[in-house]
Amino acid sequence: MRRALTGVAFSALTLAYASTASAFCRTTTCDPKDPSQGCVLDSELCETTGIPLYWPDACLSFSVNQAGTERRQIDWRVTNELVTQAFRAWTEVDCGGHAPSISLRSRSPVACDAQEFNQRGPNANIWMYRDDEWPYAGSDTTLALTTITYNTRTGEIYDADVEINSAQNQLTTSDTQVAADLLSILTHEAGHFLGLSHTTRRSATMYAEYFPGTTSLRQLSSDDVAGICATYPSGRSARPCNYDPRHGFATECGQVEESGCGCALPGARSRHLDQRGALLGLGLVVGVACAALHRRRGRRRRAAS
Ligand SMILES: [Zn+2]
Repeated sequence: MRRALTGVAFSALTLAYASTASAFCRTTTCDPKDPSQGCVLDSELCETTGIPLYWPDACLSFSVNQAGTERRQIDWRVTNELVTQAFRAWTEVDCGGHAPSISLRSRSPVACDAQEFNQRGPNANIWMYRDDEWPYAGSDTTLALTTITYNTRTGEIYDADVEINSAQNQLTTSDTQVAADLLSILTHEAGHFLGLSHTTRRSATMYAEYFPGTTSLRQLSSDDVAGICATYPSGRSARPCNYDPRHGFATECGQVEESGCGCALPGARSRHLDQRGALLGLGLVVGVACAALHRRRGRRRRAAS
């Protein structure tokens, strides 16, 4: 079985590039699923229109839902350790003598198990399993989905939530008995969480395909490193370190009118909230980007090295 990662801008990537130039892509405010926005892709299939998304904060927190996954027998503590490892892969790289200018800390567990952003109250950046059913399209092929809420004018990320399809995937944590390697999936999703999109480099963690039985996505490639270093360079004017989410931290879900990505298809993104923000009189212009990790049917192939 072959599984594919589809993402913000593209799917079914089959192009190969001989160039040694960086190929990494950042998610931007331009929604390629909305023809009216006229998004343009370059030769590496990166969006060249829109503002690249990024966290304006120097410090972030993430939270694992307290339920873990009963179906796959992985509790929140193990998940929390693996998410920590996944983020460490990104934040401890060498960007020419310094690390990326972003730091993450766990605030786990949380009671909330909803993908949501509360515009008027506290929040959490939640990693959660879906044990009973996958609530989006492509349920039998999707591994995980990251949803990012951002400011459409500035590209600032306000919130990110990651849902993992434990209902229909045999998630494993072993280094040797590997089915759908949870740490590989988490490391890829952590890249989306931090604002990266898919790359055409086959050896990269942010490449759009994952092959079951492999663990290679756990290790970043030079292309991934170039991407995270470009997104969070040293000396950027980040907000002072404060690990609280926007509007403060809450373990319970907020009282939001809508939740869920609303993506019609994995990799699509939708539900711009401009009208709702105006309705609430907050002056916010908020959009939502989703990036899903999903598999395709087909013969298993060796993973790209
Ligand atoms: Zn992806």
